[in-house]
Amino acid sequence: MATSLASAKKDPRPLPAPDSDFYRFAETLNADEQAILKKVRAFMESKVAPIINKYWVEDAFPFELLPAFKELNLGGLGIQGYGCAGGSELLVGLVGIEMARVDASIATFFGVHSFLAMGSIALVGSEEQKQKWLPPMARMEKIGCFGLTEPLVGSGAGGGLTTTAKRDGDTWILNGQKRWIGNAPWCDISIIWARDVDDNQVKGFIVENKSTPGFSVDKMLNKIALKVVQNGQITMKDCRVPEANRLASGAQSFRDTARVLRGTRYYVGWESTGIQMGAYEHALKYAQERLQFGKPIGSFQLIQELLAKMLANITACQCMVVRTAQLANEGKLTDQQAALAKAFTTAKSRETVSWARELLGGNGIIADYNVGRFFADAEALYSYEGTYQMQNLIVGKAITGFSAFV
Ligand SMILES: Cc1cc2nc3c(=O)[nH]c(=O)nc-3n(C[C@H](O)[C@H](O)[C@H](O)COP(=O)(O)OP(=O)(O)OC[C@H]3O[C@@H](n4cnc5c(N)ncnc54)[C@H](O)[C@@H]3O)c2cc1C
Repeated sequence: MATSLASAKKDPRPLPAPDSDFYRFAETLNADEQAILKKVRAFMESKVAPIINKYWVEDAFPFELLPAFKELNLGGLGIQGYGCAGGSELLVGLVGIEMARVDASIATFFGVHSFLAMGSIALVGSEEQKQKWLPPMARMEKIGCFGLTEPLVGSGAGGGLTTTAKRDGDTWILNGQKRWIGNAPWCDISIIWARDVDDNQVKGFIVENKSTPGFSVDKMLNKIALKVVQNGQITMKDCRVPEANRLASGAQSFRDTARVLRGTRYYVGWESTGIQMGAYEHALKYAQERLQFGKPIGSFQLIQELLAKMLANITACQCMVVRTAQLANEGKLTDQQAALAKAFTTAKSRETVSWARELLGGNGIIADYNVGRFFADAEALYSYEGTYQMQNLIVGKAITGFSAFV
């Protein structure tokens, strides 16, 4: 007994490494997809993690990461053909988790490009448009953004877009403004949603940012969340776009915009789950190292309860988004199922990151300790791609049969 006590003192058992995949979801991918996930994790941990706080504090995008990002060959993840990365819905989601687990801005940059911009072309573009635009976007030679929200129209975008499109021979003339558009201050291609003044329907257009006269972008300043993502306010003054750039195959009304959003909303569910995982792992590591009253704070009961509650939130969100991926793989995911996942995971995310922030005490509000960044970024995910209230109204309408939209 004396010997074993002495050896325990000399060689204490190593503490468990923080691991937020408690129910081992990543293991359900096939071997090839697990290898992709490992590559993403290695990139995020070795290249992004060491520099991201500095960029976040400075409101700047880390362009230095783009060459290594391109080498991951993730452009068009989940989209089959046209040089896109393809892959299962589960892989798409778990990649979103891997990115957001280290930084939600990087996950958002990628989501806007690959799911909102490329996804619009893949879902409602013509065959010619897919062949022309998707390959360079998949190689990330051309980066895209998605312009739906306007300065005066956010949640009400479905019925109230004020940006107009007027057909003039073989071209369309676009006028109006778009606000909050991620990647817009520096990217190459915008998917712009505008109301056709002749039939009053919403249509989508592929606009080339850098070569379209009348198209300009002002970077939005002083954000307190997702500071690495560069959001822009786009102004279009008599921008002429060829008819060949109108998303032609499917985009005939706002219903088509909603089809794009169905997929991307549930991607936000994965991002929100990833944010919680990152915040939890940082908090757990901190709890193992930080001493108070001569003991690691992780040895206190109240701290362990906080950590267990965080892990329960995370695991519940993982279960939910994994099931939405199964439904999406079978082509069965409905708007209301995507909306429920987006609402629940973003709400849980706010709770989890606030517990993580609390666990770090004062250091929880210093960017250097990472958790403060997750804490702020969770706020943006709660509101973008349709607010918590909008998602619940979509669910409410489906389950009661009554529309409460005003
Ligand atoms: C960081 C960030 C990035 C973004 N990126 C993009 C992008 O790339 N492209 C893009 O197009 N947009 C983008 N957005 C815009 C985003 O989708 C909108 O912010 C969102 O849809 C909400 O619109 P709003 O901010 O105008 O809020 P509002 O619509 O003005 O809503 C304000 C509040 O009122 C509530 N509300 C509104 N109507 C109702 C109602 N009928 N019943 C109950 N409550 C209601 C809302 O839930 C919210 O709480 C981004 C936003 C953020 C914050």
